[in-house]
Amino acid sequence: MRALYWFRDDLRLEDNPALTAMCAKADEAIFAFVIPESNRWSRSPERMGKHRSRFMTDSLIALDKALRDRGNQLLVLHGDSDVAIVEAAEKWSCRAVYSQRCHTHEEEIAATQVAAVIPHHTFEGATLLHPDDLPFDLKDLPNIFTRFRKKVEKGGLVVRDVQSIPQIPPPPSDLPDESIELDKSELMDGLPKTTMYFDGGAEAGMKRLQHYFWGTRALSEYKKTRNGMIGWDYSSKFSPWLAWGCLSPRIVYHAILDYESDFESNESTYWLIFELLWRDYFRLIAMQHGDRIWHKTGLKDAPRKPVIHHPLQWKDWCTGNTKSDFVNANMHELRLTGFMSNRGRQNVASYAIHNMGLDWRICAAWFEHWLIDYDPCSNTGNWLYVAGIGNDPRLQREFDVEWQADRYDPEGTFRRHWNRLGEKFPCDPLAIE
Ligand SMILES: Cc1cc2nc3c(=O)[nH]c(=O)nc-3n(C[C@H](O)[C@H](O)[C@H](O)COP(=O)(O)OP(=O)(O)OC[C@H]3O[C@@H](n4cnc5c(N)ncnc54)[C@H](O)[C@@H]3O)c2cc1C
Repeated sequence: MRALYWFRDDLRLEDNPALTAMCAKADEAIFAFVIPESNRWSRSPERMGKHRSRFMTDSLIALDKALRDRGNQLLVLHGDSDVAIVEAAEKWSCRAVYSQRCHTHEEEIAATQVAAVIPHHTFEGATLLHPDDLPFDLKDLPNIFTRFRKKVEKGGLVVRDVQSIPQIPPPPSDLPDESIELDKSELMDGLPKTTMYFDGGAEAGMKRLQHYFWGTRALSEYKKTRNGMIGWDYSSKFSPWLAWGCLSPRIVYHAILDYESDFESNESTYWLIFELLWRDYFRLIAMQHGDRIWHKTGLKDAPRKPVIHHPLQWKDWCTGNTKSDFVNANMHELRLTGFMSNRGRQNVASYAIHNMGLDWRICAAWFEHWLIDYDPCSNTGNWLYVAGIGNDPRLQREFDVEWQADRYDPEGTFRRHWNRLGEKFPCDPLAIE
């Protein structure tokens, strides 16, 4: 049987249940990824900024190489995802399409449209806990994270083993050999050499994991350092690889267990698992609530505060021209590198919503454009949380941004660094639609 494997947010061969399932059935295979052209779809050039686009291309090149090492290759298609996949499947006479299951609105529509034309088999693979292993029905998912965590931790977390790379079937003999182009276009030109730069792909993700765990043992200090803002090792920085699926959360989890048996098990090693559970939680919330997560009032019936769209203030926030030098520095870091610390994200989100009265959705869209690690579930879940219309037991989650700046950047080093670079590389507000 000839099949088509559709890579989505799972750009890896290891621990990929949908890929393993296809390889067990197919004796010939096409591997494809689609870059959408219309901004109806996430990952279209308009919705995906240059840093994420560069990381994606890097990851696709790495994936192509991994497939070539095993006798196949990756096809990069352009157009609407469902149309491009169906056309490719028909062109190469594939009898079925396989992919990792996605639970967000646009991705589900595309998957259903493919399934309307050709058998489309989808498998869970993006979460730490397999949804079928949860000790409750999805409809009973607790609406507060702590309750969810306690339920899944009761009696020990159930995490499946990592699946090794399957035997990759060969391509059809007449498949053209196409290579993927990467435009590195000096993204980081002019920035200090120490600026973080994330290499895409599974191998680079594993290298980062090795560094953070066995290389520096920074994992042992993670809980104490995770609120940092400067440098590589205050937190794991796994998010871009997790968001694109270059690393699976189960690979990270089992590596934490290995680290614990090699060195030590402490609050910090546990805390990284705790954060992976947050990631799962926001995915399950998306599964449970469907496109409700994108509503102006989120999971509530009414917004916590009146929300009006202020285009000019929104541009001030985007371009790092607010009254807060702490917010501005974080916004410059985001635009110039595609990354922002968790502490930074919480503060700029709180400031946008609570101090400036902006609509969370348009701010979340700015994050979508710039973040290398953009993930629809984690991004939306966190924005709703900060806006007080998601899964927050507290009525108010407003940060005192000046107090936060004093606490987390007491010498002003972070602010000086990014505000200086923001001035050197300004963002033109007129260029923002
Ligand atoms: C407004 C806002 C928007 C965000 N948007 C995104 C997004 O688009 N993509 C994204 O991956 N994370 C998002 N986060 C969560 C978090 O800020 C990042 O995951 C984290 O900063 C990435 O750095 P790290 O890998 O070093 O994290 P670490 O602290 O090392 O955590 C390890 C991993 O746990 C997961 N994780 C940690 N914190 C969270 C969290 N609060 N929610 C969900 N998962 C978490 C991530 O996968 C992360 O890589 C957002 C947070 C806020 C407040």
